[in-house]
Amino acid sequence: DIWLDLQESYRAELSPTSYNAWIDTAQPLSLQNNQLIIEVPTSLHKNYWEKNLATKIVETGFKLTGQEIIPSFVTADEAPLLEPAAKPKEEAPKPVEVTKKAMLNPKYTFDTFVIGKGNQMAHAAALVVAEDPGSMYNPLFFYGGVGLGKTHLMHAIGHHMLLNQPNAKVKYVSSETFANDFINSIQNKTAEEFRQEYRNVELLLVDDIQFFAEKEATQEEFFHTFNALYNDGKQIVLTSDRLPNEIPKLQERLVSRFAWGLSVDITPPDLETRTAILRKKAAAERLEIPDDTLSYIAGQIDSNIRELEGALVRVQAFATINSSDITTSLAADALKTLKSGRGHSQLSILQIQEEVAKYYHIQMKDLKGKKRVKSIVVPRQIAMYLSRELTDNSLPKIGAEFGGKDHTTVIHAHEKIQQLIDSSATMQNEISEIKNFLLN
Ligand code: ADP
Ligand code: MG
Repeated sequence: DIWLDLQESYRAELSPTSYNAWIDTAQPLSLQNNQLIIEVPTSLHKNYWEKNLATKIVETGFKLTGQEIIPSFVTADEAPLLEPAAKPKEEAPKPVEVTKKAMLNPKYTFDTFVIGKGNQMAHAAALVVAEDPGSMYNPLFFYGGVGLGKTHLMHAIGHHMLLNQPNAKVKYVSSETFANDFINSIQNKTAEEFRQEYRNVELLLVDDIQFFAEKEATQEEFFHTFNALYNDGKQIVLTSDRLPNEIPKLQERLVSRFAWGLSVDITPPDLETRTAILRKKAAAERLEIPDDTLSYIAGQIDSNIRELEGALVRVQAFATINSSDITTSLAADALKTLKSGRGHSQLSILQIQEEVAKYYHIQMKDLKGKKRVKSIVVPRQIAMYLSRELTDNSLPKIGAEFGGKDHTTVIHAHEKIQQLIDSSATMQNEISEIKNFLLN
């Protein structure tokens, strides 16, 4: 089997991280007339294969068969065949390098990151950037909801780069730290030190840049930092909970620069990925947990990976208190209070907006925009209504999230929709359907 031989020779040549990202996610579909068709998860994988990995197929293929094997790549959407069930990966977690100086969390490495449908493109892009900073995707921009692994991947890039280049200067900051450092540098008249600190790096990681919203002077400074690094070919990686053009009051020139590189979203993991994440966590903590219990827990918490980890900690604590083994029924007991107490406080305005936009088949930018046509105005008001009903956000905050509207607009929308609900059964049904999507 050519594929097995190919796997062997890639394994010998690539790091385990690369092997997992590129080879493990690929599958041979057919070999006909010397043409080997290989399915890969995303177009990014396809490019990478074509650029970096395909020649080996020709070489190895020739060695084995004496014929010229021509590889070609299709992504999962293009592949006409059904996807075979993914195989769970069982591998021992490796000891982790500690990298204090860059402020990186030693646990957030590629080794501890589980690849799944919602994050494989982001993972692949992270790996490309980590192996070859400053050349392919600059800046690299991750966006997506809370607790889905953006920060983890960002740190993994830093660790990986430091493994290859131990003397490289890597700097990780949250956007708030950047803003604070900048403001302090003005107050203390240390602008030069600030620039030294932020511009003399090979890799700058800035997390959660949605908090640059409405910070004019900080944005100005970040613009110059960005330009200095970019022009020097230094890698920049950014994250946010949404796309740059959806961040209120983010300067246009920053929005357009952020689009120079690659933006990748991370979406919530499916059940299989959540189970794999728990399995890996449990192994790292040396917990003995049966598989069906792991998938039970994964089935209970379905969006946020941080909450998923929290659930595992809770189950573990519960077992310790009761000096019992971890079983499915124990897990059910441990999570019962968590679930009922959780309510809907975890919903974000963004989730509500996305659900409403999807439900009414309109675009996010219209939902948050100023168009006055009824087909958009009503969904917009519904999204505001639900944001008020289902989250703890203040009226001004909700207004801000809808393209910077005034809080009185939100009050008006809320009243309007409440009236409609009271007077129309259709509206009642639609709202409860959307609520169902959001709360389950
Ligand atoms: P975000 O920055 O998107 O809010 P984080 O990167 O902080 O999310 O991730 C939240 C938690 O979930 C972290 O403890 C992280 O290690 C873990 N996590 C997220 N994605 C994965 C993954 N694919 N595999 C393993 N752990 C993950
Ligand atoms: Mg984060």
